[in-house]
Amino acid sequence: MLNFHLTQEQFDIQKKAREFAIKEVLPVAWYYDEKDEIPLEIIRKAFQAGFVGADIPKKYGGKGLGLIESAIITEEIASACSGLVTSIFDSSLGMEPLLLSKNEAAKQKYLTKIAEDNKLAAFATSEPTMGSDVAGIRCQAAQDAEDYILNGTKYWITNGGVADYMSVFATVDPKSRHKGICAFFIEPSWPGVSIGRHIPKMGQRCPNTVGVNFMD
Ligand SMILES: Cc1cc2nc3c(=O)[nH]c(=O)nc-3n(C[C@H](O)[C@H](O)[C@H](O)COP(=O)(O)OP(=O)(O)OC[C@H]3O[C@@H](n4cnc5c(N)ncnc54)[C@H](O)[C@@H]3O)c2cc1C
Repeated sequence: MLNFHLTQEQFDIQKKAREFAIKEVLPVAWYYDEKDEIPLEIIRKAFQAGFVGADIPKKYGGKGLGLIESAIITEEIASACSGLVTSIFDSSLGMEPLLLSKNEAAKQKYLTKIAEDNKLAAFATSEPTMGSDVAGIRCQAAQDAEDYILNGTKYWITNGGVADYMSVFATVDPKSRHKGICAFFIEPSWPGVSIGRHIPKMGQRCPNTVGVNFMD
């Protein structure tokens, strides 16, 4: 029979995350919202408390927790501020395409840095002309020997101005719609990547949100 009850370990994680939310997030939520400022200090504290990258497998330096545990942590911290939680856990989304990939060398190189050095990964799907309609992606990936050359623009990218890495979705064949889409794990410091200015928002103001341009 299916058991939907939390285990003792999950209850302990929930208690720890709730305490963190009340002590570290709730008192400063107004500040980051009012100042429209990315909460890097709180991201660092969440990392030190073992919440960030908790779902990274142990072989890449993570805690190896599951999606249920990650959801519990996210839910507790979101109850204190939905803006801060977006910024704190954006890396989970950003690293997911890499976690699902079979590229062991890239996983060893990047996941360990996210798990051990608090490096941040952003997730870039949306563009100025498409959000929900992901099959309409216009950012192009052209194969060049063993490389792919990206050209296009991403928009509304959470933590994009501070992220060390980024999962970028692009199409190798726009006519194939969703079947032409591939994900690329890149470093924003590479040549040809430029980050736009912070886009102000009406709500969830503190996560840094930017446009990102790729030129060759
Ligand atoms: C705070 C914030 C952070 C974000 N962070 C990121 C990020 O980190 N990375 C990233 O890639 N994107 C990010 N986004 C973008 C977000 O994913 C898009 O805004 C979202 O996908 C919706 O796309 P859109 O804004 O173009 O709206 P649209 O796709 O134009 O949708 C507008 C409305 O039309 C409805 N609609 C759309 N298509 C259909 C349909 N076929 N049938 C019926 N109704 C439909 C939608 O439900 C919605 O109500 C962020 C956005 C915000 C506001």
